[in-house]
Amino acid sequence: MIDKIVIANRGEIALRILRACHELDIKTVAVHSEADRDLKHVLLADESVCIGPAPSAESYLHAPAIISAAEVTDAVAIHPGYGFLAEDAEFAERVEQSGFIFIGPRAETIRTMGNKITAIEAMRASGVPCVPGSDGPLDDNKKRTRQLARDIGYPIIIKAAGGGGGRGMRVVHSEATLFNALSLTRAEAAAAFGNDVVYLEKFLENPRHVEFQVLADQYGNAIHLMERDCSMQRRHQKVVEEAPAPGITEAQRQEIGGRCAEACRRIGYRGAGTFEFLYEKGEFYFIEMNTRVQVEHPVTEMITGVDIVKEQINIAAGEHLSYGQDDIRIQGHAIECRINAEDPKTFMPCPGTIDQVHLPGGPGIRVDTHIYNGYTVPPYYDSLIGKLVAHGETRDAALARMRLALEEMVIEGIKTNLLLHQEILEDTIFAVGGANIHYLEKKLAL
Ligand code: ADP
Repeated sequence: MIDKIVIANRGEIALRILRACHELDIKTVAVHSEADRDLKHVLLADESVCIGPAPSAESYLHAPAIISAAEVTDAVAIHPGYGFLAEDAEFAERVEQSGFIFIGPRAETIRTMGNKITAIEAMRASGVPCVPGSDGPLDDNKKRTRQLARDIGYPIIIKAAGGGGGRGMRVVHSEATLFNALSLTRAEAAAAFGNDVVYLEKFLENPRHVEFQVLADQYGNAIHLMERDCSMQRRHQKVVEEAPAPGITEAQRQEIGGRCAEACRRIGYRGAGTFEFLYEKGEFYFIEMNTRVQVEHPVTEMITGVDIVKEQINIAAGEHLSYGQDDIRIQGHAIECRINAEDPKTFMPCPGTIDQVHLPGGPGIRVDTHIYNGYTVPPYYDSLIGKLVAHGETRDAALARMRLALEEMVIEGIKTNLLLHQEILEDTIFAVGGANIHYLEKKLAL
């Protein structure tokens, strides 16, 4: 029985988790930094504990303070949200060793998936399609590496096994720069991740980003909740997401989704997770698995009716999945705009006090946000202040609702990227669907 949960996060996702807990009649403990006393979920939580000063290294990333908060409040479980400690295997381990439930996969699974090479190995073994590559670490045998790169064909990409957040990768266009690039990436990886293991794979030039949501319980049941398209990105940051992905056939969806669910069963996955793929010329290529709830989970919730956060909690409580694969059907189309406190032209973060907020509404509109009139966005954390989600019977209907919602939405006092979203929603290529991951940056460069 889970009757009290520590929410080890902040902002919109902390509020999202709090709502799921309260719906399930579970008490909440908000842990927050000194800069976050006025966060909406802190004000709504049953209890709150200040865990340290504003810098996240001393608060949201400070595991002992979070675990102590669970101890003093007699909580049963800790929900890490996304970011911060959500994919930190050591944290998950410490939480469980301290006698609490970590709402997420086992530490061992997080560790396997956190290393790109072991993750790819696990995926290949389950029949999940991966990018053609070295199938493991590169060694010092130059002849073999040279031949491998030739066989795969340039351009290739060298990646650090321990890399993350878009770092530890280098694209190589010809053999002339292969070994120089290899030693540079190796040195950088050693310095940044304390692990100099690198591998190589085909560099896909114009892929889309398509990812599959999965849920798995502790009894070997696993399902997929279809896919999302997150190709609208800037600097590897997703800006707009949608579900389902335009142009993916039902056969492809069930084939790839089925393999993801099968991989979950094979690795003994537990909880919610996402398999990220690059999609090019009709083929899927696995790149990584995220072992947590994602920012863009609402679009999947809107088209499937499944409450992913509630499922995470139920799974952690030892319950069986509430759904079988046959229960999961796509209803319409959903799209999400990430609203950031930033300059719409320069993309510089713009923290500050919000004088006025007017949120949109009407059929099919969902707003996940912690902001309110008078709330001050602190400068210490990422600039996401909310997510606007529109659902409709068809993609066009969802887009029409999103356009209206963006027009209705007012945030005064700080700069936001609402204007950028309006531009994207007016874009004719975006309206067609299926643009690749470079499209938005190219458009912005014009
Ligand atoms: P990270 O863990 O740092 O996010 P990923 O493996 O998820 O690293 O890759 C991040 C991004 O880099 C991808 O979303 C994609 O844009 C690009 N990328 C990674 N691998 C490839 C590849 N083989 N071909 C083309 N682009 C790639």
